[in-house]
Amino acid sequence: MHITRRRPESLRGPAESFTGSVWLNEVAAPAAPARLRMFNVHFAPGAHTAWHRHPHGQVLHVLEGEGLVQRRGGAVEEIRAGDTVWIEPGEWHWHGAAPRTFMSHLAVVEAAVDGTTTEWHEHVSEYPA
Ligand code: MN
Repeated sequence: MHITRRRPESLRGPAESFTGSVWLNEVAAPAAPARLRMFNVHFAPGAHTAWHRHPHGQVLHVLEGEGLVQRRGGAVEEIRAGDTVWIEPGEWHWHGAAPRTFMSHLAVVEAAVDGTTTEWHEHVSEYPA
């Protein structure tokens, strides 16, 4: 085992993949054969991801605030602190903060063998006002 101390620096979510102010802290990325990747993601009010999917699915666990999640073909759904969302492998979706509320969630994925964790698509056009 080993203990990784909290990384001091947060990374800004890039504009091609996120709308608004999003900051990511990598929590865990253990060496092979593990393919677990875990991030703590902080969304400012209204900030959210673009449409994307994960090859082996994703767990989102909301730590703070209120947010939104939508899967392709589904309604926009509200999530809040304590909620856990399972995104199916290959399911197109987006997630982020509610329009007037900060939100942070843990995001846990299993990388593909080639290291891919996320396939990005277009920005969300129907984010609620
Ligand atoms: Mn996702």
